[in-house]
Amino acid sequence: MKEVDYIIVGCGLASIAFCEQLRANNKSFVVYDDASQKSSIVAAGLYNPVILKRFSEVWKAKEQLALALPLYAKIEKELDIHIDYKLRILRRFTSIQEQNKWFSASDKPSLEGYLSTKLVKNTNLEIDASFGFGEVLHAGRVDTELLITSYKAFLRRTNCLEETTFEHSKIQFEADIITYRNWNVSQIIFAEGFGVKQNPFFKQIPLTGSKGEILTIKAPDLNIDYAIKSSVFVIPLGNDLYNVGSTYNNEDKSNTPTDDAKLELLTKVKIFIKCDFTIVNHVAGVRPTTKDRRPLVGRHTEHNNLYVLNGLGTRGVMISPYVSEKLFRLIEHNETLDSEIDVNRFL
Ligand SMILES: Cc1cc2nc3c(=O)[nH]c(=O)nc-3n(C[C@H](O)[C@H](O)[C@H](O)COP(=O)(O)OP(=O)(O)OC[C@H]3O[C@@H](n4cnc5c(N)ncnc54)[C@H](O)[C@@H]3O)c2cc1C
Repeated sequence: MKEVDYIIVGCGLASIAFCEQLRANNKSFVVYDDASQKSSIVAAGLYNPVILKRFSEVWKAKEQLALALPLYAKIEKELDIHIDYKLRILRRFTSIQEQNKWFSASDKPSLEGYLSTKLVKNTNLEIDASFGFGEVLHAGRVDTELLITSYKAFLRRTNCLEETTFEHSKIQFEADIITYRNWNVSQIIFAEGFGVKQNPFFKQIPLTGSKGEILTIKAPDLNIDYAIKSSVFVIPLGNDLYNVGSTYNNEDKSNTPTDDAKLELLTKVKIFIKCDFTIVNHVAGVRPTTKDRRPLVGRHTEHNNLYVLNGLGTRGVMISPYVSEKLFRLIEHNETLDSEIDVNRFL
């Protein structure tokens, strides 16, 4: 038998942020991942402190960004990769009323410093935006695909990754220690995304799940280095490639790209992108969304050494470092979780 402080089930954004807590605190761990969920790897990866539908602040945006940006910078340095791209996000206005709403929102103290007070005029003939744009400040994009593939490679090199399905029925409980296959482990963290539905210990948590699809297009004539938010996002990736997304589907829980979503994205993007383009990729994943749009974090009601780290919803890039720190403090320092994120609000 081998000894380890933690097993983490899953290697998406939630797990990576928690692994970094463990590494910073010299805890030993092993990660199980079977690549059954795709949410983190297909994500557009945007971080943005503003809800662009309502022009309001994202829940705990300041606290989240204060933890997330240094964490991604640390990972970039340690793994020698570039994943955090600072990005201008331009919200396309469709009317004078929308412009006015933007400028009154930019006066709110909670949004100060996040919404530019200047109207950005469109000068690109390939874009239809006669009412101009509002610019979001302090936004960016994390290349989640590169983050996950590089982080998995790092875990592999350090013998901390088991690339297989974690079988919940094989857990054995003995006093304060759990045995799982050839591991003696103190705590297990389930960071399974929508895969938690197969987890007998936490399957009852109210995760709704929202499937999202993204197209990657090649548009040589578009020539923009900023993201546009209209009824869909257009996000520059470099080399004339852009991600167009995403859709929201609460019925289908598969990771399979669909023709319906493709048609929806094409119809929406053609309203404001006028140049020709070709589709070069199409991906899908299920976001771990919750009823009350808050994460689901905490301890199992009977088994004191089983924990859940889930419910990151549509904003895993920003939320994962924040909730990982909260969970670590609960486990190692017995700090109480905010009731807003504690899974026990539903159990
Ligand atoms: C189309 C789309 C666009 C998005 N865009 C953005 C965006 O721009 N910005 C943003 O912040 N967020 C975005 N999101 C949301 C973001 O991706 C999620 O919040 C985040 O990925 C959730 O991470 P997670 O680690 O909780 O779950 P997942 O990414 O689902 O990771 C769970 C992992 O657990 C593994 N697993 C599950 N069960 C088991 C098991 N029994 N054994 C072994 N492994 C298991 C899975 O294989 C998976 O690797 C987007 C999501 C989608 C689908």
